[in-house]
Amino acid sequence: MFEHIQAAPSDPILGLNDAFRNDPNPKKINLGVGVYKDEQGTTPILKSVKQAEERLLNQETSKSYLSIEGSQAYREAVQTLLFGEDTQIISKQLAQTAQTPGGTGALRVAAEFIRKHLPNATIWVSNPTWANHQAVFQSVNLEVGSYAYYDVDTKSLDFESMLAGLSQVPAGDVVLFHGCCHNPTGIDPTPEQWYQLAKLCSKQGFLPLFDFAYQGFGAGLEEDAQGLRTFLNHVPEMLIANSFSKNFGLYNERVGALTIVSDNADQALAAFTQIKRAVRTNYSNPPSHGSAIVAEILNSKELRSLWEMELKSMRSRIHEMRSLFVNTLRAKGVNQDFSFISKQNGMFSFSGLNPEQVSRLRKEFSIYIVGSGRINVAGMTHENMEPLCEAIAAVLK
Ligand code: PLP
Repeated sequence: MFEHIQAAPSDPILGLNDAFRNDPNPKKINLGVGVYKDEQGTTPILKSVKQAEERLLNQETSKSYLSIEGSQAYREAVQTLLFGEDTQIISKQLAQTAQTPGGTGALRVAAEFIRKHLPNATIWVSNPTWANHQAVFQSVNLEVGSYAYYDVDTKSLDFESMLAGLSQVPAGDVVLFHGCCHNPTGIDPTPEQWYQLAKLCSKQGFLPLFDFAYQGFGAGLEEDAQGLRTFLNHVPEMLIANSFSKNFGLYNERVGALTIVSDNADQALAAFTQIKRAVRTNYSNPPSHGSAIVAEILNSKELRSLWEMELKSMRSRIHEMRSLFVNTLRAKGVNQDFSFISKQNGMFSFSGLNPEQVSRLRKEFSIYIVGSGRINVAGMTHENMEPLCEAIAAVLK
């Protein structure tokens, strides 16, 4: 039965991780997979997370199933983080949230919901986008289109082309926006550009799907939600897939959520029953531990302020590495202008390195970068910066 089945190509990002793990070079550097690393090059468990886990260990009394939509305390905490305190969306119950296994789980449930209930919709993603977006949507046979985003020459947002592309998207289609810290470019719209996009969305009548995987990694928890909240002021309906993998460092606990917003509470609730159906036939109900950690932290004043401090220090370290990278490249005699890297948000940057240079970095220097030239700035440290920049200088010659 299995004889005719061909091996699938390895995942472009996770496959790189496997290659890195198998590389015996002790000086290898991993700037591939999107995981935060500290100055020691490790992905630590946050102190706030450890303390929440200690509390949970003492409090937990049962491992019985969660409901299909997940833990109530968690779902409420997610909404407050997305929408802010004291918003009408929450008080009028205009949003419904399902706890999901990671942001990917949220996107997959959203994809099934769209396919079933908006069967004629095409989903539009930015060019470029996170490598898994197209695959997730195509896996449920959704039509996927792309809109202009990145200007290769200026290494910045090509906002004019983005607007022009999106003004061709018809009512009833779905447009995916990265809430902040665009993956892979690190370039986000400005507040004024978000406003223009929201107005366009309202005029065109397409449904925005926000993928919000990096809240707090850009400028701050509130600042990073600005695009999403601007949209909420202008459009009646929205889907939001968010993840706590990065901002809580809970990668392997699989913690995320899918939120549906409508300007009518009954409609939000009715549509939500269909989201729950998609969950039930997919993984039945979500895993508990990670969401319990997040709820414990967000609902405790003390743990929340510790978490916010830790999040700030991750954010600051990435900003520092961006500047150091740009300065060290200059010091190593690289003439090309890399200053754009210090202006970008979140973990990722499009370095502008071409596939041949990326391949040389890997073969000659054991430096692992995604083929597109996307680099994970969080993989840089004071210690690996010199050899990294020397190697880049060598392949740029
Ligand atoms: N969306 C984007 C843009 C991402 O970069 C990622 C993770 O890299 C995800 C979603 C998925 O997050 P998770 O690991 O929580 O599934």
